[in-house]
Amino acid sequence: MAEIALEHLTKIYPDGTRAVTSLDLEIDDGELVVFVGPSGCGKTTALRMIAGLEEITEGTVRIGDEVVNDLPPMDRDIAMIFQNYALYPHMTAFDNMAFGLKLRKVPREQRRTLVGKAAQLLGLPDVLGKKPRTLSGGQRQRVAMGRAIVREPQAFLMDEPLSNLDAKLRVEMRAEIARLQRDLSVTTIFVTHDQVEAMTLGDRVVVLRDGLLQQFDRPQQLYDRPANLFVAEFIGSPSMNLVEAGLERRNGSMVASFGEHRLTLDGHTFEQRPDLSSYDGRRVILGIRPEDLEDASFDPSSASRIAASVDIREDMGSEVFVHFAIGAPPVRQADVAAAVGEEAIEATAEQARRRGSVFVARIDRESRAGEGEPIQLAVDTRRLHFFDAESGRGIYGS
Ligand code: ATP
Repeated sequence: MAEIALEHLTKIYPDGTRAVTSLDLEIDDGELVVFVGPSGCGKTTALRMIAGLEEITEGTVRIGDEVVNDLPPMDRDIAMIFQNYALYPHMTAFDNMAFGLKLRKVPREQRRTLVGKAAQLLGLPDVLGKKPRTLSGGQRQRVAMGRAIVREPQAFLMDEPLSNLDAKLRVEMRAEIARLQRDLSVTTIFVTHDQVEAMTLGDRVVVLRDGLLQQFDRPQQLYDRPANLFVAEFIGSPSMNLVEAGLERRNGSMVASFGEHRLTLDGHTFEQRPDLSSYDGRRVILGIRPEDLEDASFDPSSASRIAASVDIREDMGSEVFVHFAIGAPPVRQADVAAAVGEEAIEATAEQARRRGSVFVARIDRESRAGEGEPIQLAVDTRRLHFFDAESGRGIYGS
């Protein structure tokens, strides 16, 4: 077990592609850190540099006390788990798990003990004699995990290990990886493009965009205090609603205005974001998470409301999503485009040209709000988010 530290880690591929730029990270011993970001943001490249499978252009990788830049993968004492499992088809589950140990000349008896222990941990004893093709997807994934565990490495590096599994199995295996990692306390880096996986698994999460670190934080912090618009859009589903708003002091309170709507900010907001005071009379990007909006008939005491008309109603069973136009122009910010993808932005832009930007609210499943009908939405103003309109950075202050 060991800590992993990256300093100015950079990768420029021979064709000039800058995949990772000056990445600085310190991962604690025993910690599970998730690398997340959209396709092409450099997650896999970063992981492969740590594993020794990709040459480092600049910077250093340290595992424990040792800079490992020049060590081959075999000597880095780490175990990789890939999405395609990479099991040997002609070997049994047992032999697949024992193979790495055999290469390292671990004696037969010890191999048997180590594989037996891992199989027990993973609930695999019954299938040890089977070949991979006769195993289920989940069992294959467990064998791949077992193969990594038996080596008792200093760290696990996992690259989208769950992406070949169906949705239900993914959730099960996710919980299993979390449990195993906790039990074994092995420093782990887990790569995924799935923000739910990142939020549920990571002790801390690294959000990457175009090879650049956006934020390295605990999941709750990413959700509550996103560093910029990119993180705000990327974390949370449906995404945070964003709109350009004017801030102005009226009768001693700060008010945010967008379209026809006015929201009086809560005192708590300023305690959390002292820098906001300097935005009096300026434009900001206001963010409201869908879950911080509620059909006002379920929250009658709320003073802050948005009056709207329901465009689309989606019944999810446990809750209802309503989409509604807010009569204000959409946010045009490169960060937002990068987080939601160009196509989505095009579609939203077209819609916005016609009707202004559209918000989504996650409301009580008992709500009667129907399509084409008016609705009053209560806003939890303690949970509003604010971003600088130029830089896209979250407005907080210490
Ligand atoms: P995904 O989730 O799609 O796997 P990722 O975040 O893991 O994406 P990487 O695979 O690390 O991203 O790729 C980062 C960037 O480097 C991308 O722009 C990719 O096209 C580029 N890239 C990856 N491998 C090479 C290579 N061998 N030569 C040139 N460019 C590469």
